[in-house]
Amino acid sequence: MIRLEGGAHTSPGQVRSENQDRPVLTAWIAGVADGMGGHRGGETAAQLAVGELAMLDGPLTVDGLVAAVQAANDRILSQADDPSLRGMGTTLVAMTVVDDDVVVVNVGDSRGYRLVEGGLEQLTEDHSLVEDLVRQGRLSAEEAKNHPQRNIVTRALGIGGQVQVDVFRTAAHPGDRYLLCSDGLFNEIEADQIALELGRWSDPREAARELVRLANAAGARDNVTCVVVDLRADDDTMAAAAAVDRSVRPETFPGPAPAGVAGRESSERSASSRPEPRGRAVPWAVVPYVLGVLAIAGVAIGGTIWWGRAAYFVGAEDGEVVIFRGRPGGVLWMDPTIVQHTDIEYDDLTGASKERLVDPPVGSRDQAEQVLEALRIDEAPADPIEGVTSSAPPAARPSRPRSPAAAAVPPGATTSAPATTPTPTPDPATEG
Ligand code: MG
Repeated sequence: MIRLEGGAHTSPGQVRSENQDRPVLTAWIAGVADGMGGHRGGETAAQLAVGELAMLDGPLTVDGLVAAVQAANDRILSQADDPSLRGMGTTLVAMTVVDDDVVVVNVGDSRGYRLVEGGLEQLTEDHSLVEDLVRQGRLSAEEAKNHPQRNIVTRALGIGGQVQVDVFRTAAHPGDRYLLCSDGLFNEIEADQIALELGRWSDPREAARELVRLANAAGARDNVTCVVVDLRADDDTMAAAAAVDRSVRPETFPGPAPAGVAGRESSERSASSRPEPRGRAVPWAVVPYVLGVLAIAGVAIGGTIWWGRAAYFVGAEDGEVVIFRGRPGGVLWMDPTIVQHTDIEYDDLTGASKERLVDPPVGSRDQAEQVLEALRIDEAPADPIEGVTSSAPPAARPSRPRSPAAAAVPPGATTSAPATTPTPTPDPATEG
């Protein structure tokens, strides 16, 4: 039986007054959510996401973990009707152990890494505008770190009714160390320095704290969160016997939903919250009940209409790229309506840009504007590619090698629970 043992640390950074990052760490699961959207929205979305994970009891399955991510998405959407929370969303990266495998799930641009022979191996792929441009060879990894639009994510929880979840599965080896972090870390600190710090501290709590401290020392333009996780075997003989297989198997759950499905699904959910009639009854006794049902149905329909109209997305109409108000495919009898024309011709777009419009993110007017901006960047003439770096150079040897943790830690002295910041944290611990 392999379990997680770790430490988490978070800080608002040096520029922002609020911390919209949230870590989670239990005996079964570790994760980081990086919230976005207005003043209260980002915090709320991130808190809902880690709260959903913190409720999970193990041992977990891959389906169970993916279902929890979907449930977090549903909870965020269901609270987004509150005007002060409108447009909120969050990234989420999380890991657990399923049978003898580590399973990492990811939506957005927070990251999961594994420390391998002193170097940093990135397990997740970012769902972000700059990462798309890096993959196309139009930005270098270095340029991406300082790009003004580095905060734009192409996938997040809270954007649509169905979220696509990347799943990475790899063999679990006791003693292996993992890092989950928000972009506030890797946009400030080089990969080899992250690897060096991960290797330097035997206690994962110290490693997490030190990484956050270094990001703050580097200027921390964003919130910074690190969860450092060690795999521990209850039975050390099993650990010794295990052959080392470090292949990573990626998958995505589920495939892309057809446009419009998300909206309809949610309106059905509103409708199904109405109580079912219980069969025949004495007519007069039924009247208050019927009135109650009608009132609830009225509220449900009113809410669905509001929900259907309080959303924007980018699409194409008559060969022109436009911003629509409404939901793809429409809601009830309401079709999306055009609220902004552009000078962008759909036929002029590259294949990758057209793909953005196949299952467009649905959100606030601002988010739709950001998608337009992303399309304009996609279509701008490409700069010559300058020294694209795709992976970190091998890290230097840690100056103070980790001591064998099993020997340093008396049995039972550090279960994962005391190693955590209280999770989920209603008011996150800030750098102290
Ligand atoms: Mg961030």
